[in-house]
Amino acid sequence: MPTSLVTGGAGFLGSHLCEVLLERGHRVLCLDNLETGSLANIDDLRDDRFVFLNHDVIEHIAIEEPIDVVFHLAALASPIDYLRLPLHSLKAGSYGTHHALGLAKFKRARFVLASTSEVYGDPQVHPQPETYWGHVNPVGPRGVYDEAKRYAEALTMAYHRQQGVDTAIARIFNTYGARMRPNDGRAIPTFLRQALEARPLTVFGDGSQTRSFCYVDDLIRGLVLLAESEEHLPINIGNPDEKSLLELAEMVLRLTGSSSQIIFESLPVDDPQVRQPDITRAKQLLGWEPEIELEDGLRKTIASLGRGAAVGSA
Ligand code: NAD
Repeated sequence: MPTSLVTGGAGFLGSHLCEVLLERGHRVLCLDNLETGSLANIDDLRDDRFVFLNHDVIEHIAIEEPIDVVFHLAALASPIDYLRLPLHSLKAGSYGTHHALGLAKFKRARFVLASTSEVYGDPQVHPQPETYWGHVNPVGPRGVYDEAKRYAEALTMAYHRQQGVDTAIARIFNTYGARMRPNDGRAIPTFLRQALEARPLTVFGDGSQTRSFCYVDDLIRGLVLLAESEEHLPINIGNPDEKSLLELAEMVLRLTGSSSQIIFESLPVDDPQVRQPDITRAKQLLGWEPEIELEDGLRKTIASLGRGAAVGSA
C-alpha cells in the first residue's frame, strides 16, 4: 500500500486530496498546524489508514515510516491570512518547503509542490503558459505569498537538479468547492455567503477583472495524475473557462435565488486584472482537463452547504 504525506491536509484542497488518496488505497499521513485548516474537514476520514499529525512545517519533520509521495500544500493561501501573518507566509514557503523537500529526499519519495497562478503576478500575457515568467511586485503586500511560492518553485527545481529528488510543480488556479471558509475573503465563498444572508454582494473595482474557476474534484484529479506522472517542470492546473467577477456575482444571485444587490468597492492593491491558465501541457502530458462547468460546480457547492459544510472558493 503506498503511503502519502499531505502537508496542509486539514485545509480545503488538502482534505479533498486526503479523501481521494484513501479511496485510491493509500495510507495517508495528514500534517497540519490547523492555522487555517480544521479537524472538522477531516472528521469523516478517520480510519486505520489515516493519521493526523499536528505539526508546523516551519519546524523539522521527523517521520519513521516509509513515504512514497509528499504533497506539499501547507501555506497561508488566502489574502486575508497571508496579510495577517506575512512572515509566517514567507517561512512556510521557505523553511517549510525545505523541510518537506528534505523529507522527500530522505524517503526517496515523489514530491508535489502546490504552487499557484500567483507566480504570474498581474500577467502581461493572456492566457498564461508555464513558459511565461510573470510580473510580480516583490515589495507589495501580496509579495509575501507570491514570492514565497516563487522561492518554493526555485527550491523544488534545485532539489531536483542538484539532489536528484523526483519533484513536480502544480501551478494551481482559483479552485472552489465544499469546505472552504465562508470568511476567507475569496470571491466565491464571499458571494455565496452574502447572497444566502441576503446582504449586498461586494464586487471589487468595476467587476471586469477575470478569474477562471476550477471545481475541486477536477483539481484533485489533476494533482493525482501529476503525482503519478514523471513530469518535473511546472504544469498549470486550472479551468480555462474565464469569467468576469461581475458575471460570477450575477450567476451566484441566479443560482441561490437571492434578491441581494451588487455593490462596487475599491480594488485591492496588486489585484490581477486577468487570470486564465493555458492548460496545453496538462492536456498533453497528463491527459487532464476540467470536466465540471462553473454552474454545475456552484450548484454542488451550494448543495454541500445544506449538508453543514463550509462554503469555498479561491
Ligand atoms: P487552506 O488554507 O484551506 O489550506 C492550507 C492548509 O495549510 C491549512 O489547513 C493550514 O492550517 C495549513 N498550514 C498553513 N501553514 C502551515 C504550516 N506552517 N504548517 C502546517 N500547516 C500549515 O488553503 P487551500 O486553498 O486548501 O490551499 C492549499 C494549497 O494550494 C496552498 O499551498 C495554496 O497556496 C495552494 N493554492 C490553492 C488555490 C485555491 O484556489 N484554493 C489556488 C492556488 C494555490
